[in-house]
Amino acid sequence: MKSPLSGLNPSEWEALCDGCARCCVVKLEDEDTGEIFYTDVACRYLDLDTGRCTDYANRSSINPDCATLSKKNLALMRIMPSTCAYRRTHERRTVILDVKSLSVCGKVVSEDEVAERDLEDHIVDWISVDD
Ligand code: SF4
Repeated sequence: MKSPLSGLNPSEWEALCDGCARCCVVKLEDEDTGEIFYTDVACRYLDLDTGRCTDYANRSSINPDCATLSKKNLALMRIMPSTCAYRRTHERRTVILDVKSLSVCGKVVSEDEVAERDLEDHIVDWISVDD
């Protein structure tokens, strides 16, 4: 079945993002099961006060791990948070309008502050690919 996202024009696509920045945190994947875990460690390019990317236009080149969602890579949806407006639209579910409650601002630290070996200690349950 065609995704409801496929009919969006570029400005409609951009407008759908609520700026929660949940997709802008470091994710860990279980190599055996493929399970995705979210952490409270944000990409170093995220402005922790505004929840906006500080180099949005170049985000996929400056951070190869950036989940740069587009109509051409809807397969990425499997790693997006269950609350993501794109994912919910894609799955024909109600979009959550309480953006303030979704925002990571005030709840995350920068990856510059956390050693890679400690990332597992930062796994959280308030962002998840599951409901
Ligand atoms: S999780 Fe979805 S709605 Fe939130 S910032 Fe990322 S793309 Fe936008």
